Amino acid sequence: MTITLDLSRATPAASAPAPLNLAGLTRAEIAAALVESRVCSSNQAKMRANQIWGWTQHHGLTDFAGMSNIAKETRAALSDTFTLARPQIAERQESVDGTVKWLIRFAPGIEAETVFIPDVGGGSGALCVSSQVGCTLNCTFCHTGTQALVRNLTAAEIVAQVQVARDDLGEWRVGPGERRLTNIVFMGMGEPLYNLDNVAKTLDIVSDDQGIAISRRRVTVSTSGVVPKLTELGERTGAMLAISLHAVTDELRDVLVPINKAYPIAELLDAIRAYPGLSNAKRVTFEYVMLKGVNDSPAEARALVKLLAGIPAKINLIPFNPWPGSPYECSSGNRIHAFADIVNAAGFASPIRTPRGRDILAACGQLKSESEKQRASARRRLDASGEPQAI
Ligand code: SAH
Ligand code: SF4
Repeated sequence: MTITLDLSRATPAASAPAPLNLAGLTRAEIAAALVESRVCSSNQAKMRANQIWGWTQHHGLTDFAGMSNIAKETRAALSDTFTLARPQIAERQESVDGTVKWLIRFAPGIEAETVFIPDVGGGSGALCVSSQVGCTLNCTFCHTGTQALVRNLTAAEIVAQVQVARDDLGEWRVGPGERRLTNIVFMGMGEPLYNLDNVAKTLDIVSDDQGIAISRRRVTVSTSGVVPKLTELGERTGAMLAISLHAVTDELRDVLVPINKAYPIAELLDAIRAYPGLSNAKRVTFEYVMLKGVNDSPAEARALVKLLAGIPAKINLIPFNPWPGSPYECSSGNRIHAFADIVNAAGFASPIRTPRGRDILAACGQLKSESEKQRASARRRLDASGEPQAI
């Protein structure tokens, strides 16, 4: 097997190259790095990699010093050569409802949002992770869609989002039954199916039962509908599938989710019906954002259930989360409930997603934009006064 090292490196020091970060790598990548750096011989590398893996992925260590089953001299050699540092937290916001949002800086100019949403049902909480910085798609209701794609996140950077959340929630040392972070959803910034290799590798890492151990069934990948990648997603990851549908006609979906022009609704539904493992026990989630006067009529609810007839599905109604300058408003509560009743009566579970974190910058992509705006205005103030200003 050839191991390619797609590695995130810590912010470079002035001269020396930044040490390689082992904290989000697969066991095989760690072993390859150990051999390449000559920290251990190739016949020792696998065992050492397993030890390092356990300390970082199971115990959450960010320092080699605490790795008590590794000889002191080897720990020193590891510290001299590698790092386990977390990326920097550029911003942290906590809502009164317990929602926590982090803006994580992986490298200068490479920032993405991660959100913890507690109590999404049955004592579980979901971590919403980003797969890209920005997005190439331009869904008209989505704030991230207004940001250009900067780049794909590496698997290590996606795993780091889970590690940062576990650090912050203090969940490395508690038993699995007491953890609040039980599920992962790829519903942050970016289109996961345009970064499938790294998304698949992330699932391999976080689902490993000697590590973070979140089962594949507890990971949901949300896509705007990249039809040619759907089967591959199912085969490579075993993840639960969520589809951002948002409209029942191609005419409207072409506007709201412009990738629909390439992969219209009928093709999308065919690909969903063929999703590996789809069954009543493993349903697809359809996401439907409620936009006032745009897609929220009872006739559209009836058309929706007709469209999805026969697909093992649940329909997640999402109140639109407005952002400054957004061209839409959220449907009224009555309108959303009337829509849900029609969908329910047809036999689909149709939970209305409770708006979370309304008191923080909750719309995806907003924290990044606001933080950039504040820094730009601080820079302008600095330019004007010659003095640094607090932001
Ligand atoms: N790119 C992927 C995953 C990220 S978006 C996708 O589109 O599915 C995650 C979900 O949030 C999608 O269903 C998206 O349509 C929805 N979303 C984006 N902006 C929103 C907003 N302002 N209000 C409510 N839902 C939004
Ligand atoms: Fe990209 Fe998803 Fe936002 Fe569309 S909804 S712009 S695919 S992040």
